[in-house]
Amino acid sequence: MKKLALHWKIIIGMVLGILFGFAMNSIGADGRLFVSNWIAPFGTIFINLLKLIAVPLILASLIKGISDLKDISKIKSMGLRTILIYVGTTLIAIIIGLSIVNIIKPGAGMSQDTIENIKLKYENDAGVTDKLAKASAQNDAGPLQALVDIFPSNIFTALGEAKMLQVIFFALFVGICLLLIPEKKAKPLIKFFDSLNEVVMKMVDLIMLFAPYAVFALMANVIIAFDDTEILIKLLAYAGCVVLGLALMIGFYLILIKVYTKKSPLWFLKEISPAQLLAFSTSSSAATLPVTMERVEEHLGVDKEVSGFVLPVGATVNMDGTSLYQGIAAVFIMQVIWPEGLTFTNQLVIIATALLASIGSAAVPSAGMVMLVIVLESIGFPAELLPIGLALIFAVDRPLDMCRTVVNVTGDATVSMMVAKSLDKLHEPKPKEWDDNYEAVK
Ligand code: ASP
Repeated sequence: MKKLALHWKIIIGMVLGILFGFAMNSIGADGRLFVSNWIAPFGTIFINLLKLIAVPLILASLIKGISDLKDISKIKSMGLRTILIYVGTTLIAIIIGLSIVNIIKPGAGMSQDTIENIKLKYENDAGVTDKLAKASAQNDAGPLQALVDIFPSNIFTALGEAKMLQVIFFALFVGICLLLIPEKKAKPLIKFFDSLNEVVMKMVDLIMLFAPYAVFALMANVIIAFDDTEILIKLLAYAGCVVLGLALMIGFYLILIKVYTKKSPLWFLKEISPAQLLAFSTSSSAATLPVTMERVEEHLGVDKEVSGFVLPVGATVNMDGTSLYQGIAAVFIMQVIWPEGLTFTNQLVIIATALLASIGSAAVPSAGMVMLVIVLESIGFPAELLPIGLALIFAVDRPLDMCRTVVNVTGDATVSMMVAKSLDKLHEPKPKEWDDNYEAVK
């Protein structure tokens, strides 16, 4: 019998997890407790395993990739193209978001009762106050702090704390120096990282065997958190705008794939889908990164030297879904509680700050909401209204976070295909399975 494709297994796991979550929700507090005590930990184990291999994977594949480029000028042109395309797609995402929210106006006409209800329920919610505290900590840093943060003073701390940009900087530095020393001296280290890269890629294959079960746990755990469907319905127009914008963004990527790389969009979707499904279930592009890298390299045919750079950088700085959401959320909040702020200039400021915010957002669940506070502050949004603003969108933030993370990951994969194509680094894919070598050693 033909083996069921991985994405189908994951989809089945997700659907069963959702159904199980609803069933446990209907039992009440006991059901929810059962999920958080006995089911959710398996999702956590899975995310831990993915995070465990993310740092060695970035290090190994980037060092190996850069040393394979054999030419420093290629690194420059790859870096430049990557950043330019990233900024371009993010700007398009924000403009799509702002257009939708200005045309549909989901915030206009929300009744005072609903606003009061939401305010009462969420204004002092730990989720909301926590985002505000994090945003103010981020705001207190100087303007160049983000730049300073790229340069580690201790590589072990950077590796240990999984500081992505610092690890990328170090790997680039090592890779470039490997090119600058005599080949004979460089070889042992390159071989070491090549071998490490193979091992970590195999780990991805093995961890993915567990994915269908893990997404079951992750989805069940998400569902038990939705207890107020009434408010969810009230926010449907806003959530619908975000989902529509995200869907348009996926369509835009597929056009880029077709027009620029001349590949079939459906084939692209099929091959990248396991990474998209994990992005959806984990809400974290950082946790999804190892799987994105494996899919892009082995299933889409992008050379390591491109994917090893473009994807880790993208996971941190390219968040099209997040910036689209920030544009929509900021304007929606203004439509509801600060209509006088809805000027054209403010919308231009939102474009600029949402672009920077998506670069600065961490690739973890709900980071986009923290940065939304900074976007709002940049247009002079009254501080006393901030908690109410966040409360307004808080109830639907998790499902939207899941959706925008899918777009973030798909955007990174699309750009890596484009950069690879432009550098002639897109080849026939050679997928590897976890058990390719198993017969010989079992
Ligand atoms: N969860 C998103 C990501 O990891 C970031 C966000 O929008 O909150 O890509």
